[in-house]
Amino acid sequence: MIDIHSHILPGVDDGAQTMDDAIAMAKAAVDEGITTIIATPHHRNGKYDNPAPNVITAVQRLNEQLQQNQIPLTVLAGQEVRIHGDVLKHWEQGDILPLTGESPYILIEFPSDHVPRYANQLLFEMQLKGLTPVIAHPERNAEIIEKPDRLYELVQKGVLTQVTAASVVGRFGKNIQKFSMQLIEANWVHFIASDAHNLTSRSFQLRTAYDTIDCEFGIDAVYFFQENAEQLVNGQTVYRDEPVRIKKKKFLGLF
Ligand code: FE
Repeated sequence: MIDIHSHILPGVDDGAQTMDDAIAMAKAAVDEGITTIIATPHHRNGKYDNPAPNVITAVQRLNEQLQQNQIPLTVLAGQEVRIHGDVLKHWEQGDILPLTGESPYILIEFPSDHVPRYANQLLFEMQLKGLTPVIAHPERNAEIIEKPDRLYELVQKGVLTQVTAASVVGRFGKNIQKFSMQLIEANWVHFIASDAHNLTSRSFQLRTAYDTIDCEFGIDAVYFFQENAEQLVNGQTVYRDEPVRIKKKKFLGLF
């Protein structure tokens, strides 16, 4: 499995604090069946800044440690970029790192309570530059939960989304779990990823999330997400199904 969103890089944000933490997370990732993981430290979120060159150096260091410890996990570079007005300027300056360092996909985080008004325009301008924004965990955004159409209009315009594994398995509560399922069913979701920060409160849950998706939607849905992560890592175009309006269906299997 491939995990496209994680905070495994040590000492750079609120994820792994030490190299030992990072190695323990790497072992847990391998135990879940993860072979490739993208390190996506927070960038420009008001607390943490991790410009591209720093991330690349830290990823090299972590990969060396993993090799020395014979842990079969490949770490790729990335960032979780908090949306801000200068994203494109900073991308041109080389501060912003796309997922894997080379793909056109950029992981974008909204503030947790709203979607900035300028988001539509900025995400559109990114696409004009050949970039594809991937919205991190929209299922946890208060404005999107309240008004899902806010996300629908973005997905319709080619923006991709990543739902967090822990949301799918219910670690953020029943409402976020149910909303995650609705987003998946309506074809608004293109990736499932761990957003793992540690091995206690914010662990991987990727295997369990795929099991849950298998139960609820069937194995084809699991393959869809797994293949998309693969496509992304290979720098290829990800699969999209036409987004439809959210149905008010009850998920009897789970809720
Ligand atoms: Fe994250």
